[in-house]
Amino acid sequence: MYKIDYHIHTVYSPDGKATPDEQISAAVSAGLSEIAFTDHCECNNNEAIPPDFERWFDFDPDSYIQAIKKTDKKGLRVKIGIELGQATQNKAFAESVLSGYEWDVVLGSLHNLRNNYDFYYLGLLGVDMRSLMKDYFEQLYELVCFDCFDVLAHLYYPVKYISETDKGFDIHVYNCEICDILKKLAENGKALEINTSALAGNYGNTVPDMEFLKMFRQLGGEFVTIGSDSHVCSFVGYGVSKTTEVLREIGYSAITTYEKRQPILREI
Ligand SMILES: [Zn+2]
Ligand SMILES: [Zn+2]
Repeated sequence: MYKIDYHIHTVYSPDGKATPDEQISAAVSAGLSEIAFTDHCECNNNEAIPPDFERWFDFDPDSYIQAIKKTDKKGLRVKIGIELGQATQNKAFAESVLSGYEWDVVLGSLHNLRNNYDFYYLGLLGVDMRSLMKDYFEQLYELVCFDCFDVLAHLYYPVKYISETDKGFDIHVYNCEICDILKKLAENGKALEINTSALAGNYGNTVPDMEFLKMFRQLGGEFVTIGSDSHVCSFVGYGVSKTTEVLREIGYSAITTYEKRQPILREI
């Protein structure tokens, strides 16, 4: 089985706790075949940000890339990527980051709505996030239409935080909005990430769940990646074996990896 973790953070993210070398050792111990480092590059530094979030905009691509190049890969395939947040909220900045460096893979993410805080932070503030989901999917659709990424990360990011307090929330009420997004992704030849981080919390499922993976496949979606969104060593490769098996069961015979932003299919 070809096992990948294509969403890994390091100390080059403000919330990352492990060095690139430590994450590589963890990936080798977890029996992974290939990983991608995807540290945060948030584009919306001209928008509302919570107190103490200034540091989120200190990302330095040069030192990050150099640090990964210097690591001992220990026989592992290691790719250099970024998690590009809110690209549509500052398109010129997003384009300069994409054209200024040679990335292997770019994740597209939406962590906050325009002029609003990261959903993580809204969760801490006890904000009713259900009422924001319509806006979330509208702005995510806009992101998917902007050619600025290879893999769409955590399709419904806010759900992880909604589930902490709101047990009755059912993401399937947004099937239509999600269907439109998956259709556009498939049409544009982009990959869908299966984010395993919420398997560990109250939500207890991957984002997206397998019903949406099946929908993506039916809509012609060919490219799928798996990412743990690990910020610590102990989480690298979390849920990857089981998720890869489920992918096979629903008819995918390959997982997608990237080199210089070109997809490479690896048989699973
Ligand atoms: Zn993210
Ligand atoms: Zn992440």
